[in-house]
Amino acid sequence: MDSAGGLVSDLTQHAGDPVLVVNAGSSSLKYELLAAGDGTRMARGAVERIGEDGGAQAEAWHETSRSRHETSDACADHHAAMDIALRAFATHGPRLEQAGLVGVVHRVVHGGDRFVDPVVIDPDVLAAIEALVPLAPLHNPANLDGIRAAQAALPDLTHVAVFDTAFHHTLPAAASTFAVPRPWRQQWGVRRYGFHGPSHAYVARRTAALLGRDPADCKLVVLHLGNGASACAVDGGRSVDTSMGLSPLDGLVMGTRPGWLDPAVAGHLARLAGMSIDEFDHALAHDCGLQGLCGHNDFRAVMDACRDGDPDADLAVEIVVHRLVGVTGAYAATLGRLDAIAFTAGIGEHAADLRAAVLDRLGIFGVELDVAANAAASGETRITTTKSAVAAYVVPTNEAWEMARSALTVLTR
Ligand code: AMP
Repeated sequence: MDSAGGLVSDLTQHAGDPVLVVNAGSSSLKYELLAAGDGTRMARGAVERIGEDGGAQAEAWHETSRSRHETSDACADHHAAMDIALRAFATHGPRLEQAGLVGVVHRVVHGGDRFVDPVVIDPDVLAAIEALVPLAPLHNPANLDGIRAAQAALPDLTHVAVFDTAFHHTLPAAASTFAVPRPWRQQWGVRRYGFHGPSHAYVARRTAALLGRDPADCKLVVLHLGNGASACAVDGGRSVDTSMGLSPLDGLVMGTRPGWLDPAVAGHLARLAGMSIDEFDHALAHDCGLQGLCGHNDFRAVMDACRDGDPDADLAVEIVVHRLVGVTGAYAATLGRLDAIAFTAGIGEHAADLRAAVLDRLGIFGVELDVAANAAASGETRITTTKSAVAAYVVPTNEAWEMARSALTVLTR
């Protein structure tokens, strides 16, 4: 168990800018208490399976610098989940009332055209996030549930929204505009927005630091490869192209999402298979990607299946590699020069064989893999040789810290 004295001293040490970062999904509420200034994590946890089985049993975990606690609890909604999280802080520490919190920071997936910076949440902002629900029907409602639950539980604190789309507001029109009729674009908001902003921003900054260069002078490709996956071309610290579009379904092959798809597929399946828009939407979110290709949405399971000789799993990995090579090459041309490629998130940080397959095929750009460094990579690691014309790195992402850091601009104003 935690000793209260030890935790208090941890908190005093980082009393600068402790913030609570909240990331609410449709059936989960993840949280992290950290010092926004230096990223020191004081606690983190999650409540999962919220509202499932009629709210009968959610699973929760809470981790401090010294211990980890797991519980099962009835949990019907995000308000109940927030109560579970606050109870965990009260029971296992650190005590939030002693933490000197400067605010609560919420991840919101879609900020549309309106939100390009972190913003203090007031009724007008809540209404605007609600108005953006049609652009992110799976994500923004859950984000709103999390905000409302946290505001009710911690009413005296300032709550800030940080948007996944915001980092990409610098996309040039040629990259953000779809070739569709004007009313689709002007009236219905049809364009490329991009997602995973905090991750791309954080990894791009760290990659510049690893290169020993000013971010303003770096041309980078960041490959965020997790359950959701997206690529980003970063020029001088600004996003200039990215693979996700109007929604997080576009671009790379993901756990259950297809990525790039001919738009004719929707009409084709409607006419031939009698598929409704709702069925199609559901399948795009849940049944495609690695899942659709080989029956596993988890990349570790896909690799196990490859080792067992499953040809469907082999093809799935080949498609993943094909797209990563294609997107990196295209972004290198867009950038006009490529200084480094950064791999991040669960697959990017851990799947050494996948990184090797991608980098081997990027030899045309003078990429030269350091086989041993890649195989042994742990934490921030350069995985190309010193002779390589383009550097490649593994850079573990830290979205919570990036969100906390960026929120400080409005919290300490
Ligand atoms: P994330 O969404 O960033 O948590 O990443 C989840 C994905 O990372 C899943 O597909 C996992 O299978 C994959 N992953 C996690 N650890 C490993 C590993 N050691 N090797 C390969 N893939 C991994």
